[in-house]
Amino acid sequence: MSSNIRVRRICQYCEQEFTARTTVTKYCSDGCSKRGYKARKRAEKIEQSNTETKQIKQRPIVQLKAKEFLTVKEVSELLNCSIRTAYHYIDNGTIKAVNLGQRMTRVKRAEIDNLFK
Ligand SMILES: [Zn+2]
Repeated sequence: MSSNIRVRRICQYCEQEFTARTTVTKYCSDGCSKRGYKARKRAEKIEQSNTETKQIKQRPIVQLKAKEFLTVKEVSELLNCSIRTAYHYIDNGTIKAVNLGQRMTRVKRAEIDNLFK
C-alpha cells in the first residue's frame, strides 16, 4: 500500500537524511538496507558468541554450587581467591574443613554459604 506522504528520515546505515514514503522506513536505499541488515546480523552473531563464552566461563561455578563437598582449590574458585588464601582461612578457622589425609582436605559447601550469614 503506497501513500502520498513524504517524511524526512535519517538512514540507519549511512546516517544521511532522505525522503521516505512511510514513517517506518529505516534506510535511504536498497544498498543501505542490505548493508544495514548485514551489519545487524554480524552484531547478533558477535553477541551470541559473547553469550556462549560467558556461559562456558560460568559453567564450572555452577557445577561447584551443586557439590556437597569441595576441595580447597574449588573453595578458592568459589571465593575468587588464591588456593594459598583459602588454606589460610582454613588454618585460622574462618572456614571449617576436615582433613582426611594428604590432599584430602574437604570443605562442606554449606560452610561457604555460612561465611556470608
Ligand atoms: Zn543510507
